[in-house]
This record gives sequence, C-alpha cells and structure tokens, in this order.
Amino acid sequence: MILFKKAGELHNWLDAQREKNHTKGFVPTMGALHDGHLSLIDSSKKENEITVCSIFVNPTQFNQKEDFENYPVTIEKDIYLLESNGCDVLFLPFVNEVYPHGTENPRQYDLGKIENILEGKYRPGHFQGVCMVVHSLLEIVKPDRLYLGQKDYQQCMVIAKLLELINMNSTIELKICPTLREKDGLAMSSRNMRLNEEERKKAVEISKVLSIIKKDLLPGDIESLKQNAIRELEKNGFIVDYVEIADVETLESVNKWDGKQKLVALCAATIGNVRLIDNKLTN
Ligand code: AMP
Repeated sequence: MILFKKAGELHNWLDAQREKNHTKGFVPTMGALHDGHLSLIDSSKKENEITVCSIFVNPTQFNQKEDFENYPVTIEKDIYLLESNGCDVLFLPFVNEVYPHGTENPRQYDLGKIENILEGKYRPGHFQGVCMVVHSLLEIVKPDRLYLGQKDYQQCMVIAKLLELINMNSTIELKICPTLREKDGLAMSSRNMRLNEEERKKAVEISKVLSIIKKDLLPGDIESLKQNAIRELEKNGFIVDYVEIADVETLESVNKWDGKQKLVALCAATIGNVRLIDNKLTN
C-alpha cells in the first residue's frame, strides 16, 4: 500500500494510473476502522483495479467541538488493517491539504429539504461539512466509483444530491453498501468503542426496535410504531433524538402508509455520552 499525505502527489500518481486505463474505487473514512469500513474496501477491490481509502477526521462536519476532540484515532491499527486487506492507496492528509483555501468562507450546497431533517435537525451544518469534504476529496481522487455505507443512510442521499450539484453524477458511480453488524445486531461504528460494558449491552436495542418496526409495518397509520420504539429505547436509558419512518429517497416522514411506498426506519439515540445512529429498509 502506498501512503500519500500530499494531495498533489496523490493526484499525480493517480493521473499516471489513468493512462493505464485502471478504474479507481474510493472509500472515504474518518478512521478508527472496523469490519464495516473493510467491507467497503472489499467491494471496491472486487470492482476496480485501484482502491483508494482516505482517513481524515473532517473538522467541518462536527457541530460539537467535544465530539470532534473525542473522535477515536487508531491510525497505526488502521494502516495495518488496510494493508492486510489489500487496499492500494491510503490518503492521510492534514487539514490544509483538503482545504487549501481554508474553511472560513465555505461554498454553500443547495441540498433542499434533506439538509435540515433528521440528522440535519440535530446536527446543524453537518451535511454542509460533509459535502465540503467529499467535494474536495473527489476533486483530488477523481474516482470511477464511490463506496459509502448504508449505515449513514441520510449521508448517502445527501452525497447522491451533491454528485448532481457538482456535475459528477455521470462520471462517478455511487455504490451504497450494506451495514455490517455485530453478532447481536448492533451496527458497527467507530463510536462503539466509547461504550462501556453496560452501555454496549443496551446499544443493541436500537437495532432491535428498527427490526420490530420492519416486522410490524402494515398499511395505515404507522405513527404508533415510532412511539413504541421511542418508549422502548427510553425504558433502556437512551435519550432519543428521533425514530422516524420515511420515504427511502426524500427521507420525508411518513405517518400513513399506502402499502407500496418504499420506506426506511431511522433512529438516532444517545446512551451514556455516545450518540448512535442506525437504519433499516422496511419493505
Ligand atoms: P466513517 O469513518 O464513520 O465516516 O465511515 C466511513 C464510511 O464507512 C461511510 O461511508 C460509512 O457509512 C461506512 N460505514 C460505517 N459503518 C459501517 C458499517 N457498520 N457497515 C458498512 N459501512 C459502514
């Protein structure tokens, strides 16, 4: 695996590969890698000659300084995991490589309604920061395929919109990969390592209530499914930001289901001081 810290050097190296007609798959991450991340690397390896992973804890997408400062960093282990899983290139930049013009006067992306609902409501500015970093990384890497995890469902929809806004939707294929879970069902996340033993045991409830929604979903009023899920999580000590059942594309809330519309159940809740998110497609 080749490690680049400078955007210019990575760009030049990748340009040389383009002449060989090699396709590039790109997996952007914030590090503290787990099997979920590695499954994206694996998907990219299957479909491309070159797989590029980036590790960059993006300051512009954290709306709370504390969350940014507490974000887990395990860089030596990450390098080992990437190397042993056959990743070809790691981009490990400092902030000025990703944001050469600084972060003070950012471009605004017109994302529409999806920006301020669900995660956007609880993390104001988060998706503008996500778009900033992904836009910059895509300009450096210029991949053929971009690999994202369904775990961050709203982020996938936002990035699909971003690709349209920056006219990259015809040159970059967006691949949304399934969420990898622990044996008990908890969605793998870098944040899970901040859970203590008791919190870890309870954390599985998020996945459980989403499965119950999926199982119990019937045409008609579905509001009570959300309320039951919230109650169950609160009973287990969570502070719940939302449990929502929404349209798979727009993510607009659905209260009465016609039995046909494709839906996704999404949840964000905090246990101890760790905020977790998860989602499941329901039909
Ligand atoms: P992060 O490092 O958390 O920004 O995640 C980097 C990429 O890995 C994103 O596209 C995530 O959606 C994806 N990812 C995170 N957790 C999982 C998981 N459990 N299964 C599959 N993909 C994941």
